[in-house]
Amino acid sequence: MSSNEKLALFGGPKALHLPVGDMFKWPIITEEDEAAALQVLRDGSMSGIDITQKFEKEFAEWLNMDYALAFNNGTNSLLGAFYGCGIGIGDEVICPSITYWASALPAYCLGASVVFAEIDPVSLCLDPGDIEHRITGKTKAIVVVHYLGHPADMDPIMAIARKHNLKVIEDVSHAQGGYYKGCRVGTIGDVGAMSLMASKSFAIGEGGIFVTNDREIYERAVAFGHYERYNSDVRTPYLQPYAGLPLGGYKFRMHQISSAVGRVQLKYYDERINEIDKAMNYFWEQLEGVPGLKPHRPEPGTGSTMGGWYATHGHYVPEELGGLSLTRYCEAVRAEGVGINPGCNLPLHLHALQHEADVYGHGKPTIIANASRDLRQPKGSLPVSESVAARTYSLPWFKHYRPEIIDQYAAAFRKAALQYEELLPGDPGNPEKMGGWNFFKAGN
Ligand SMILES: *Cc1c(COP(=O)(O)O)cnc(C)c1O
Repeated sequence: MSSNEKLALFGGPKALHLPVGDMFKWPIITEEDEAAALQVLRDGSMSGIDITQKFEKEFAEWLNMDYALAFNNGTNSLLGAFYGCGIGIGDEVICPSITYWASALPAYCLGASVVFAEIDPVSLCLDPGDIEHRITGKTKAIVVVHYLGHPADMDPIMAIARKHNLKVIEDVSHAQGGYYKGCRVGTIGDVGAMSLMASKSFAIGEGGIFVTNDREIYERAVAFGHYERYNSDVRTPYLQPYAGLPLGGYKFRMHQISSAVGRVQLKYYDERINEIDKAMNYFWEQLEGVPGLKPHRPEPGTGSTMGGWYATHGHYVPEELGGLSLTRYCEAVRAEGVGINPGCNLPLHLHALQHEADVYGHGKPTIIANASRDLRQPKGSLPVSESVAARTYSLPWFKHYRPEIIDQYAAAFRKAALQYEELLPGDPGNPEKMGGWNFFKAGN
């Protein structure tokens, strides 16, 4: 397919013509996963913990960590990690504004508040240069998200955290198996928490897990929401008197169909994400030198990788395309047969929940319910986060290295970019709001 063929938007042939088969099917489920799930049902052991404990042990070994604790979802793995780190009433947690809500909102269940920080426009992860001036005597932790698979710049973040005696919670929900300078993400901060739900790259169904080398974080989280192991797993003296009941009043036990599938998935995970990595890098190779389009990935050869390239996105540089709006560009690519969307997660600091909602009946907004100052962050306060939607778009997330199919996808992106001048007349510009609060229903 040549790039100067007429755009499909104007009646030309579509770039996408070959059948894509199981190119996007995920997770990859074999008879081995099916047998593991069926065994749990037949044994009636859905609510047990024996399989989950084996999964935890194998998961911890995989990441070379001392402890792994499984949860019924990723959101609760973060809540458990927050409690584990000692976050409580009146504390402040620094978190990037561009992320899925579960990186931040669990803080409010603990009576803490969230201070949002800027993202770096290249990595789209927490900007290390926008943290230190937000630290106060109340700051307890920094949440780092390896956003859309890209490892965050951990070295300067860890240096700031150690200097100010803050905990670092890595949210690894987008990047299981990825590396930052040769270290697995999730193993660098004090605790690495993550979702393992069915649409993530490490996908086992509803489920989450955290890893840590800190026995106290592990035990506090067990005490908070894993009543069934309080007696056996908690040795910390100040926690022991309360054995038997979960301190948080929460129940976080993982469903054993999830952990049984997780044990099988783990065996093949590195191999499968290596293939994704090869496929996605091949895709970007095909677009090298095309104006307006840049990969969202760490520089090759730095020891940093994208893990499974979860919800993979690209950078858009409208200045190289005569100012063509991202919306118009995506429309042209969609007409070629590729379902992509402009934007990413919306900036959390602008949601009404961060401004007005009195969730627990404090008589004032929850974000400042226990805070010693007004933490609400108005429009205009985080300019990179507020403008990133016009510069990023979703990509096809290839699960297999099949060059002939990837080529036709690359052709669609290339064709629309090289013929941008055709798209300029009648470009309505971007709408006010692009992206969504989650990726399940973009635009909501
Ligand atoms: C999916 C996700 C979570 C929450 O995980 P669930 O399993 O859906 O509860 C947390 N953080 C990020 C960044 C996520 O994308």
